[in-house]
Amino acid sequence: MQWELPEFVRAVARDLLVAGHSCYLVGGAVRDGLLGRTPHDYDLATDAAPGVVAALFPGAVADDAAFGRVLASGVDVLTLRRESEYKDRRRPSRVTFSRSIRADLARRDFTMNAMAVDLRTSEVVDPFAGRRDLALGVLRAVGPPERRFREDALRVLRAVRLRAQLGLSYHPVLAAALTAAGEADLLRDLSAERVRDELTACLMAPGCGVALRDLQRHGLLRRVLPECLPTVGCSQTNPMHLYDVWEHSVRAVEAATPQAELRWAALLHDVAKPACRTVDVQGMTHFYGHETAGAGAAAAILRRLRFPEAFTRRVAALVRYHMFSYAAETKPGAARRLVLALGRDGVRGLLELRRADRAASRWGQGYGPEGERLLLHLCALDEAGERFELRDLAVDGRDVMEALALTPGPRVGEVLRTLHQMVLDERVENSREELLGAIREGFGAS
Ligand code: ATP
Ligand code: MG
Repeated sequence: MQWELPEFVRAVARDLLVAGHSCYLVGGAVRDGLLGRTPHDYDLATDAAPGVVAALFPGAVADDAAFGRVLASGVDVLTLRRESEYKDRRRPSRVTFSRSIRADLARRDFTMNAMAVDLRTSEVVDPFAGRRDLALGVLRAVGPPERRFREDALRVLRAVRLRAQLGLSYHPVLAAALTAAGEADLLRDLSAERVRDELTACLMAPGCGVALRDLQRHGLLRRVLPECLPTVGCSQTNPMHLYDVWEHSVRAVEAATPQAELRWAALLHDVAKPACRTVDVQGMTHFYGHETAGAGAAAAILRRLRFPEAFTRRVAALVRYHMFSYAAETKPGAARRLVLALGRDGVRGLLELRRADRAASRWGQGYGPEGERLLLHLCALDEAGERFELRDLAVDGRDVMEALALTPGPRVGEVLRTLHQMVLDERVENSREELLGAIREGFGAS
C-alpha cells in the first residue's frame, strides 16, 4: 500500500530514512488515512534520538527535548519511547526511549490510534487490531481501560470526543470504565485548558449531542460542567417546550452551526433556568431573568475553563440577549442597540442562536417572526452603511465642554453617552444643531 502524504511530511520522512533511521507515520494520521479522511496533523516516529533528529533538520525546534519531541520542518517527530509510571494522572513522570515500534504503540490510548505505517516498506503495523476495530466502528482501549484512564484522565475525554467525531461505539468494557472514571473523579487533576479544548472539540463534532449525552450518562458532566447538572430533569411546563432544560440545550447545540462561540452559547443559554424557575397557579413554569443570571453563570464557567476573556464576553453577551423580543412595531433603533452591545457578527450569532433555540423547542424551524424582523433591520443598517458608535456622534467632548462650560472630567463622557443613547433611541437626530440643542435643554441646569 502506497501511503499518501503531503510533500512536507514526505520530505522529513525521506531524510530520516536516508540517514539510516526508522521512520513511521503514527497516531491520528494513520487512523484518518484508513478512514479516507484528511488528517489535520501528522506525527512521525523514529528510533533516532531527539538530538540526532534536531541535527538532521536545520532550524528544527527541540520543543520538548526531555519528552523527545522535535518539530522538524513543520512535522512533529517523536523518538520511539515506552512510558511508565504516571504520578499525577497527567503526564508520565519519565520517558524511556526505545527502538521498538510495538512498545511505542502500546502506550497509546485506543487501538485505532495505536497503528503505524512503516514508511520504509509502507507496511501497516497494527499489533492491537486497530484496523478491525476501526472497521467495526468500536472504540477500544489499548489494555484495560480503567488502568489507562487512571494513568491519564485526559483519555476519558478523548474517548468521548473521538466517538463524537467519528461516530463510534464504545467497547462495553470501555463504557464501564468511563462510568468508573466519573465515580472516581479522575478528571479532577486535569488542567482547565485541556478540559476546555476537549469539551470544545466535543461541541464542534458532528456527534456533539452524543458527546453531551455521554458526559451526562457516565457521570462526567458533574465533573467537567457541574453548573449544568441542575438543568438535567429541570422540567418546563409551558406550551413552547418539549424537553427538560438539559435536553433542550443539547438539541440547541446540535441545531447550531459549528462555530465555537455559538455552540458554547447554545449549551449555556439556559443554564440559569433552574435557579430562576417559578411555577404559576396554572402550573406553568416561568424563568424570569434567566438570561441575565445565565450570562453571569456562563462567564463564570468559561473563566474557570480559562477561555480567552474576549471569547467569554462574546458568549456571555449571546446568553444575555438570547431572549430578545422584536415586535412588529419595534424601531430600527433596537437593532442598533443590539449591534452596539454585540457587534455585527454578534447579532448574526444571536440570530443563529435564536434559530437553534427554536429548533430545539416546539417553535420549529427558522429565525421566527421576531428574528426575521431583526434580520430585516440589520440588513437595512448594513445597506445604509450606517455607523453609530459613540465616536460617530455629530458632537464631541469639546462641544459638550463649550456648551455647558465644563472642564475636562467624567461628566463630559457621561453627557456624551447619554446623547449617544438618545440618538440610538431616536429621540434626537444625529446632527450638530439637534445635539447642541439637546445639550442646552437637557443638561444646562443639572
Ligand atoms: P486528532 O485528529 O485530534 O489530531 P489524534 O488521535 O491524532 O486526533 P493527537 O492529540 O494528535 O490526537 O495525538 C496523536 C496520537 O498520540 C494519538 O493518535 C494517540 O496515539 C497518541 N495520544 C495522544 N494523546 C494521548 C493520551 N492522552 N494517551 C495516550 N496516547 C495519546
Ligand atoms: Mg493528531
